[in-house]
Amino acid sequence: RIKNNGKGSAAFFDAGMEREALARMKIEQSLRLAILEKRFCCAFQSKVDIRTQAVMGIEALVRLRDDEGVIQAPGSFINLATELGLIDELTHLVLAEIVKSIDLINDMFGAEATISINVAAKQAGNPEFMRTFAQALDDTGFPQRFMIEVTEDAFVAKSHFQSEILPMFRKLGVGISIDDFGTGYSSLSALADITADEIKIDRSFITDIHKRPRSQGILRAIESLSEALGMTVIAEGLESYEELAYLQAATKIRYAQGYYFARPIFLEELKLATPASSESRASVSARPMQQN
Ligand code: C2E
Ligand code: MG
Ligand code: MG
Ligand code: MG
Repeated sequence: RIKNNGKGSAAFFDAGMEREALARMKIEQSLRLAILEKRFCCAFQSKVDIRTQAVMGIEALVRLRDDEGVIQAPGSFINLATELGLIDELTHLVLAEIVKSIDLINDMFGAEATISINVAAKQAGNPEFMRTFAQALDDTGFPQRFMIEVTEDAFVAKSHFQSEILPMFRKLGVGISIDDFGTGYSSLSALADITADEIKIDRSFITDIHKRPRSQGILRAIESLSEALGMTVIAEGLESYEELAYLQAATKIRYAQGYYFARPIFLEELKLATPASSESRASVSARPMQQN
């Protein structure tokens, strides 16, 4: 309902909006507190070679342990954290957890597996953050193990991102991955101007790929372009045997990430489930597990 405040302009107000504002303030507050108390942790999801099931890399997916100890997925807080300017700190916490757990990561996934960290497009567009982050990656002593995943929106034409920021990461040996490809605003032809090592085809194209000729066409186009440009292609969100069978029969796509092979999992859980031997490593971490 719109109330007239008597001065000719309308003031928007109702109890529902007030409740909403209060709820938002509460989330804001608990997010700030969570950062202060470092109540974040990472689940790790494998990127798998679909021919051998070997783990070629892992992706760190941040989780929040809320006030009540419940684990929250990033969908509920990443955008807000970005809006509030807390995302940079969060990314550094993710890196810190990886560094702290590197021996366990090596035991569980192999010392050759790359380690991917997501960087929001807004962060990617902030040279100051990117310089600090590159330095932090270098400080680990093993920067060449890392990849950063950014969405295609970060690669906007004529941005400093491509000309100055990315070369800085590349010089350290950090890989560049285009996340959620196909969902942003760039056209396929924009790929030709993008310098990246890896392209992740968004889950929306992979879901039921065996039944969707249009997705199949798009996949073929991305595949041949990526091949020409020397980029590794990863199919995101692979959930079923039928999808896998299609990729194997009709494409040359060699890598996939999805619940079919492995769910994101906490290292402690994996440690409990797995005797750390190199023989069991690939098969166990590639087995579908309970979702986090
Ligand atoms: P993303 O980077 O595209 O990660 C893939 C998301 O899809 C993850 O969700 C993962 O759990 C989920 N997923 C993986 N395989 C499957 C599958 O087979 N089926 C389905 N339905 N989903 C699957 P999650 O962990 O909730 O993360 C959501 C997004 O949050 C990520 O999308 C990423 O954009 C963002 N994010 C996660 N961690 C970070 C972080 O540390 N920093 C930033 N800036 N963003 C992050
Ligand atoms: Mg990602
Ligand atoms: Mg993605
Ligand atoms: Mg995504």
